[in-house]
This record gives sequence, structure tokens and C-alpha cells, in this order.
Amino acid sequence: MSAPADLATLPKAELHIHLEGAVRPATLEEFSAREGVSIPRDFTDLNSFVERYVSATQVMIRPGDYRRIVSEYAEDVKRAGVRYAELEISPALGPRTLDSFYEAAEAASDEQDVVIRFVLGLGRLMPHGILHQALDATRNVPSLVAIGLGGPEEGFANEPFVEVFAEARRRGLRSAPHAGENAGPASVRDVLDSLKPDRIQHGVRSVEDPELVRELAERQIHLAVCPTSNLRLGVVESLDEHPLQELWAAGVQISVNTDDPGFFDCDLVGEYEIAGRLLDLDRSGYARLARNSIDGSFAPEELKREIRSEIETWETGAGAARG
Ligand SMILES: [Zn+2]
Repeated sequence: MSAPADLATLPKAELHIHLEGAVRPATLEEFSAREGVSIPRDFTDLNSFVERYVSATQVMIRPGDYRRIVSEYAEDVKRAGVRYAELEISPALGPRTLDSFYEAAEAASDEQDVVIRFVLGLGRLMPHGILHQALDATRNVPSLVAIGLGGPEEGFANEPFVEVFAEARRRGLRSAPHAGENAGPASVRDVLDSLKPDRIQHGVRSVEDPELVRELAERQIHLAVCPTSNLRLGVVESLDEHPLQELWAAGVQISVNTDDPGFFDCDLVGEYEIAGRLLDLDRSGYARLARNSIDGSFAPEELKREIRSEIETWETGAGAARG
């Protein structure tokens, strides 16, 4: 079944996207030429990718750089039908940078009709002594909705992060750690037990443990899956081997997302097309996938209701007439 021609007008949310990874490739080229720093192009796995990612952040240093990344991201995803996005940010960013992209996010909401919220992304390699400080630095940020955790999984326990996640939850933030990407089901089990996730970023390797898959489905723990990212970082050998279908068939609530589209040469409509092929989706299947992205988001209930009704309009074909 081929994808509907108006897939880009299907209203949707993006739930797994890293701020620096959202940079347009041309903008990154421009930053890198300006700073006279060349950024390694090739990567084959998480470690070589992180190297590229870190060197990219080293050219995003001028006032306005982050503001521009957020604005351009909003423009790009608007064209992909995104109505709401949660961008994961690094705690290494200083308060001035933070202010500038919160402003950019507000402007995006006004000008593009794309509501942007932020997730504080802690890293498993961060010194444990500064975790609470990182959380405190975002205390007054109204657009922060969740706390996340990323970085290498194998051999890294989540225990040092239990307290800061608990404190974040007390402050009203939701929990959305990465797991089950570069390590197996044990990493997912560990975050379930220790970080009380509302949503798991990736989580695809849960598929190796049927009991865990049943539990994710039963507890409606959302998985924010990124098929092209999984392919580019060697989590799967080919898209045809991606476990999306198994998770979907088992009733796990999944969405598809781009993770780092600026580095993976992908976009959200393309990820929906991949899902459509792997899951053999018809129009209502695509609508269900988009509804999942709303259900797994931390958007306010009122906005969720609004977008769900827009999805329904698309599903019944009125969206197609609008083009
Ligand atoms: Zn990620």
C-alpha cells in the first residue's frame, strides 16, 4: 500500500528529537565554516556518532545559533504536519542560551502554530555531583515538561539518577529516559524499576523479551521509536528487520520520530512512510500512529483534544481536500 499523498498534512507530534541534532545540514555547514572547524562526517555506531555530535556542538557557540536552530526546526516540522514537539536539551547549555531558545520556541508557537516544549536531557556519562544543579538551572522554565537520560546504556546503572528523577517528578516533570537502544531488555527493565518512566526513548530492544513487551503494552508505556536512527547507528541491520511490527502487533503504544534528523538525513514524513511500509498501514493506521504520538506526549490535555480532532478530520478525508 502506498503512503497517502497528504501524509505531510496529518497532524502529529514529535517526541524524540535532540536540539543539536535538529540542525539543518546546511546550517551546520555554515557554522562549521564560520568557526573553521571541520566536523567528522562518518559514523557507524553510537560512539562514532557521539563524536560527530559533540564536535557539531562546538560550532554552535555564537549568540543566536540556538535560536536559529529552533526557528528552522519549527519551520521544517510545520511542513511535516507537526503541531507539537518536545526537544531534548543538554544541561551544558548556559542560562543565556536557554533564554534565547525558549524565546524562539514561543515565537515558533505564535508564527508556525507548532507548540515546542523541552526535555532536560541528562547523560549517563555526566558527573553525578552536578545532576541536581542541572535540574535547578531549569527551575523557572515554564516550557520544560520532562526529564530525560541518554548516552551509553551497557554497563551504566541508572541508580545514580534515581534521586534527581524523583526530585524532577516532585516538581511536576514527567520521566522520559532513553533505554533499549544500544543495550538489550535489561536496560529497559532497569529504567522501569528505577526511573518510573512515562515514556521510553527507543526501547526497541525490549522485543528480545516477550514478557517485557507484554508489560509495556499492559502499562501503556509509550516507546518513542526512531527507525532511521536505529538503522544508521547499527541497532538494526536493515529496516526490514526493525522490530516496529512486533511491538505494534503486541499492542505497545509506539510513535515514530527522527532523533537527530540533521545527522541522519531523514525527516518525520519519511519515518511515517517507513512505518507505513513495515506495518502495512491504511489511512486509519496512519491516523492511529499520529494519535499515539499525541497520547505519548506531555502536551496539555486541551491541546491533545484539539490535535486529536484535527487527526480525525484528516482520517475522514477532509484533510485531503484541503491538500
Ligand atoms: Zn535520542
